[in-house]
Amino acid sequence: MDIKANLLQIKNSFHSTECQLIAVSKTKPLADLQAAYAAGIRDFGENKVQEIQTKQPEMPADTRWHMIGHLQSNKIKYIAPFVHLIHGVDSFKLLLEIDKQGKKIDRAIPVLLQIHIATEESKFGFDQEELDAMLTSSEFANLTYVQVQGLMGMATFTEDLDQIRSEFRGLKQLFEDLKHRSLPSFVTMKELSMGMSGDYQIAQEEGSTMVRIGSAIFGARNYLNP
Ligand SMILES: *Cc1c(COP(=O)(O)O)cnc(C)c1O
Repeated sequence: MDIKANLLQIKNSFHSTECQLIAVSKTKPLADLQAAYAAGIRDFGENKVQEIQTKQPEMPADTRWHMIGHLQSNKIKYIAPFVHLIHGVDSFKLLLEIDKQGKKIDRAIPVLLQIHIATEESKFGFDQEELDAMLTSSEFANLTYVQVQGLMGMATFTEDLDQIRSEFRGLKQLFEDLKHRSLPSFVTMKELSMGMSGDYQIAQEEGSTMVRIGSAIFGARNYLNP
């Protein structure tokens, strides 16, 4: 796997030069992360707290760690001191717990709200109603140690490119709508995290500001856990 060549090819295929690339290194050995780092990558995405914990001390200090997977409340404390961005916040309960852990160490933790845009039930995220209920609640307004920086979503796993495009377009629309809503000051709509190896070009055409790319950089993962 020529990681450097893959990165170059991906960068060259970007629709937008502004869009940030997160290299999703889950299940991959440290040597692969080091190769990507040497090729200029600073943002890495992992989906298991334990894996971030073992890799983080081994990588240079300016590495930025993105938690992209489903996060369990009881594990937040392990990444709270250094995590750069938590992409998959999908419940108010989780947000509350992040707030609590941030308070303990006096660090406002940057997060994205995950929105359910796919037709698959298996994917996580808020639906419109849940999101509205949360955003208008007083408990939400009282949060102090989270910074909501935008939204994240995963399209349906399908060959139907029109469907993927329309799911991304819906998320972008929500992102724009929220920009014009009056929300607590810790909420800013700066980042729209959408697009993976198979659909990042469509995502960029639809306004993504961050793509999370794993297998197109590092090759197929050797386990069946997306
Ligand atoms: C694994 C994963 C990715 C990367 O997937 P690839 O198809 O390998 O690019 C992106 N986002 C999330 C949330 C993931 O879990």
